[in-house]
Order: sequence, then C-alpha cells, then structure tokens
Amino acid sequence: MELRSRIPSGPIEDKWDKHRFEMKLVNPANKRKYTVIVVGTGLAGGSAAATLSELGYNVLCFSFHDSPRRAHSIAAQGGINAAKNYQNDGDSIYRLFYDTVKGGDFRAREANVYRLAQISVNIIDQCVAQGVPFAREYGGLLANRSFGGAQVSRTFYARGQTGQQLLLGAYQALEKEIARGGVKMFTHTEMLDVVLVDGKARGIVTRDLRTGAIETYAADAVVLATGGYGNVFYLSTNAKNSNATAIWRAHKRGAAFANPCFTQIHPTCIPVSGDYQSKLTLMSESLRNDGRVWVPRARGDKRAPREIPEAERDYYLERKYPSYGNLSPRDIASRAAKEVCDEGRGVGETGRGVYLDFADAIQRLGEQRIRERYGNLFEMYERITDENPYQVPMRIYPAVHYTMGGLWVDYNLMSTIPGLHVLGEANFSDHGANRLGASALMQGLADGYFIIPYTIGDYLANAKLEKVTTEHPEFRAARDALTATTNRLLGIKGKRTVDAFHRELGAIMWEDCGMSRNAEGLRRALGRIPDLREEFWRNVNVPGSDVELNQALEKAGRVADFLEFAELMCTDALHREESCGGHFREEYQTADGEAQRDDSRFAYAAAWEFAGVGNASVLHKEALAFENVPLTQRSYK
Ligand SMILES: Cc1cc2nc3c(=O)[nH]c(=O)nc-3n(C[C@H](O)[C@H](O)[C@H](O)COP(=O)(O)OP(=O)(O)OC[C@H]3O[C@@H](n4cnc5c(N)ncnc54)[C@H](O)[C@@H]3O)c2cc1C
Repeated sequence: MELRSRIPSGPIEDKWDKHRFEMKLVNPANKRKYTVIVVGTGLAGGSAAATLSELGYNVLCFSFHDSPRRAHSIAAQGGINAAKNYQNDGDSIYRLFYDTVKGGDFRAREANVYRLAQISVNIIDQCVAQGVPFAREYGGLLANRSFGGAQVSRTFYARGQTGQQLLLGAYQALEKEIARGGVKMFTHTEMLDVVLVDGKARGIVTRDLRTGAIETYAADAVVLATGGYGNVFYLSTNAKNSNATAIWRAHKRGAAFANPCFTQIHPTCIPVSGDYQSKLTLMSESLRNDGRVWVPRARGDKRAPREIPEAERDYYLERKYPSYGNLSPRDIASRAAKEVCDEGRGVGETGRGVYLDFADAIQRLGEQRIRERYGNLFEMYERITDENPYQVPMRIYPAVHYTMGGLWVDYNLMSTIPGLHVLGEANFSDHGANRLGASALMQGLADGYFIIPYTIGDYLANAKLEKVTTEHPEFRAARDALTATTNRLLGIKGKRTVDAFHRELGAIMWEDCGMSRNAEGLRRALGRIPDLREEFWRNVNVPGSDVELNQALEKAGRVADFLEFAELMCTDALHREESCGGHFREEYQTADGEAQRDDSRFAYAAAWEFAGVGNASVLHKEALAFENVPLTQRSYK
C-alpha cells in the first residue's frame, strides 16, 4: 500500500488555488454521464450530494435514517468556526490555521488545515445565502462567541441548535435536487460493503432496513460521509445509531485506517447516572463562555454548592491555565476534570462530576440574557437532571464525543482505494490528535460544499473507467458474502443480547483505551477483545428474520464490526508511545502532568492496512512536515 498525500507544492496560501487550477475539469455536458454514490446525508454527505447534483452529476444518495434530516449532524449545538474576523479582534485565516494545527497537537497535515481555514469564510456566505438563521447582533451583523483553544471570537451559531439549522440548509439544497431528478435518494437503506472492480471503488451493497432486501448499486465513484465511530465506547454523546460499519468494511476492502486511537473526550457532558444508561448528553462547549468550572478545595466535601464559600472553591481551569481559563481545549479540560475527581474532589453522588456555574454570569448579565444565549441547553439539562441550572450549578463530566481518526485520505479526500472518497468525521483529515470546538461542522461543510466538487472531477477525468453494471461477478460475490454473514448471525441463537456485548466492549474501551491509557491496560484490552468477539460469534442472540424490520440484526452487524475495530484502536494506542491531544499515555507526561509528544519518533499519521481478522494490521506512516507552524510544546497557560 502506498500513501500518496498529493499535497500541492508552493507556498501554503497558494496551494489550494494552484491545485484547483491544475486539476482536470469534467465538461458540463459530460458530467451527466457519470454516476456518483454518496453514502450519508449529514452535513458532509448532504452538502456533497446536493452540490455534485447541482454540478450535473447523477447522484445516488443513501442513508439508514428515515429522512436525510435525521443525520447525527442535527445534534450539533454550539457553532461553526470561520475566520471572518467580524469582531475585529485579531482573527485571520492564518490564526485559524495556526490554532487548529496547535489545537490538534501537531498531528494534522498543514496543507489541509490551511485550506480548511481559507474555505471557512465561504461556508458562512453559502449558509447565509441559504437562509440559515445565524444569531445576529443588534445592528444586524452576524454574532460570534468563543470556543475552546482560541483567544478570538469566531464561532457562528444559531442558539444551541447550529447543527440543526445548518443541516436544514443542506437538506433544502438536497431536496431541491431530489425533486429535479439529479439525486435519487434511498432512505432506510444501510450500506454494508463497497464493491471494487479492477481495484477501483465501483459500487456498494445495501440492505433495505424495512424489507431486508439486499441490493447492489454501481457507479463511477463512491463517497462515504458516514460519520464517526465514538459509539465503540457504547456510552457517548453520539446519536445511538452512529456506527463504524461503512468505514470498517471499506477498510477491510483496502482503505487504510488512520489514527484510530485519536478519540475526543468532551469535558462538558451530563455525568453517567447508572449502569443501565444507554446514552450520554452533551452540554455544549459554548456554555464555557459564561459558566465557570470548579470543585471544592477539600476532598469529600459534601456540602451543597451554594454553601461552599468562594475561598473554599477551586476554579481549577482558571488557576492552571490563566490565559485560556474555562476555554481551555477539550483534551486539557477533560483531563483536568478527571484529575480533580481522582483526587476525591469530584461532586455529585458518584464523585465523578465538576460544577459548571453560571451564578457570576447571571449576576453580571441578568438571567434573561443567559436564557437568550443558552435557553434550550438549560431546559434540556433540567429535564434530564431535574435540577434548575439558573439556581444551582450544572454538574458535568467528560464523555466520548468525537473521533479524529478515520479513513486515511489524500489532499483530494480520496482513500487508498481509487475512487473511494471520504468526507466529514469519517475521514482523518484535519484535526490531528484533538479537534477544537466548532470545527467539525466547518470541516464537514468544507469537504462537501467546496472540496469534493472539484476533486472528484479530477478523479473522473483522469480515471479510465470501463462501463460496469451490477451483473459484474464482483457485485454478485459481495452480495453473496453479505447474505452468508446475515444468515450466520441469525443462526447463532445464543444467550446474550447484542447490547450486552456492546456494553461490555464499551466498558473495556473506556477503562483501558479511554481518557488516559497505559501499556498495561492496552495489552489487557487486546487480550479481552478477541475473547469477547469469539463469544459474540458463538453466543449472541439475534431474534427475528432477515426479511423484515429487524433492529437486533442491524445492531448485530454494527457491533460485530466494533468488535474488530476496537482491536485496531488499542493496537494504535499501544504503538504510539507518546501523548498528544486526546491520546494521553500515562507513561509520557511532563512534570506538571501535560501531554509529552515525541516528535522525533511519532510526527506522522499512522495508516493501518487490514490483514485479516485477528491478524496484526500493517502500519504505514505518512510523515508530517511542519513548515509554517513551528513544532512547540502546546501551552495554554
Ligand atoms: C452532541 C454533539 C454536539 C456537537 N456539536 C458540535 C458543534 O457545535 N460544532 C461542531 O463543529 N461540531 C459539533 N459536533 C460534532 C459534529 O456534529 C459531527 O462531527 C458532524 O456533524 C459529523 O457530520 P458528518 O456529516 O460527518 O456525519 P453524520 O452527521 O454523523 O452523518 C452520517 C450520515 O451517514 C449515514 N450513514 C452512516 N453509516 C451508514 C451506512 N452504513 N449506510 C447508510 N448510511 C449511513 C447516516 O444515516 C447519516 O446520514 C457535535 C457532536 C455531538 C455528538
């Protein structure tokens, strides 16, 4: 396997322009001769499908949801970054680029990040033109707020529903193309394999989730925009049915998987309340604009928060990181919360919580102002916890939230399988070892609206593509293999539910490959996962049949994939003998407990090649060069 990153030469500011000029174009009359499959209708897939169809390509678009609008992107709360500098506070494309490379702890490709910062300004214009109701200042200008890891205010938002409003924008564009006939939409349809012909991605195999029918679709190129894999941990802030199946099965067909161990643990989630909980809820990072994080100074202090005097509180983020304070990046704020809880100073019944307190902000700005900014988040918190955050501080704790790893892609967003492109959270491209807040929406929309429309044309214009139909033997073989796997799952008739296996896997991953990791724990996990996988294939119970709506069967396939994928995550975490961003190896920390990178050995993206279930994956390295942002120890002090 060869990793060709295809980074254009020349100064970083000119790379994307130069590349766009040098790429081949498909003439408008020829575009309608090409068919492109887009899997996923979140911000990345929805924007890509609509834009490719606008350009004239025939698009076949797939989602396992009942409507494109249900994609997990709809859950995004806080906002989307862009280097517009509307606040005149010193922002620029270069600063957004710099913050993102540094925020990712120097494990992202500079050229991609610079392009992302450049495109960020176009995204806002595009969305405003679509009618996305971003918050505005009194005078009509778009408003901004701050997110972690930045000292400027560059986050555009629509109350606490930014993802929903952006997705409605992309969805309108998609619906228009569906109505025009440019996009054929397949809802309730799960992609379960990629089909390669002559080494190129030429189609997919799907299952209709209502009837169980297995179908195949052929195309000239395939785009995966299927989201992240955080649910490998079972408990996460992701939508319950987000999963890794699409990218994992593409990996098994030859797409390299990059940096699978780079997981983001978000510091502000509602703490776990019991063993049978199946979902965690995020409290947006935007709350840290006005909320102050603290714990009691004394261990085991069980007094109600309002009874603890100021002098006996530890505002530990403000104390440890005075420059960024409560807006320290997510990896740093999460570890700091774990540390104070490990010391016995955590709050709430379990001791696994810290306060996020709005008393000062309410006193300064008034309750009404806070209600206007965060009303829906406060309401959501109260519904879940039965505590009123206008009166008592919220209790929060870190939880799995986002995955920076994903399928390896080159500068054109193409994987190591020619013709298979990967967008949004499903790829590994821009965030290195830690994603800054409000930059996932930016990346998904950059990929879908502004990058893939150019780069896919270059692929199609250069590739010599034979006419292929679903009658090709490769399609038949993939369909037969899927039918065999389905029958195998249904035939086990064991004693444990799919969820029981998923929950156990999640516990292993959280314990040994979670917020902090060490070699001993990772080796333990690498011993336990194959055993659990073996038990799954012997003892799982998947009731029902394959010719009906069968959610147990859907989940079984996804959990079977997580049981393979988890092993790769732990392998990656074990091999990376350094700490960087969200990957904190306890053995590699500075004297004051911060992440200790080892640039001499690990300044690369780790791209793994599949070698068979249970066999050691093969590591390929894409060296990362830092020519514009000097490699330094990351500091937010
Ligand atoms: C609670 C929460 C809040 C967040 N808030 C923010 C925020 O404020 N700002 C920010 O920048 N980021 C935020 N994020 C991150 C951000 O929402 C996601 O990273 C982003 O929306 C992912 O978009 P996507 O298009 O890549 O994937 P998704 O939105 O996850 O979409 C995946 C799509 O793929 C489809 N799909 C998946 N697998 C298959 C398959 N096998 N077959 C068929 N279809 C399939 C799904 O149906 C869906 O349509 C938040 C995340 C969470 C969990």
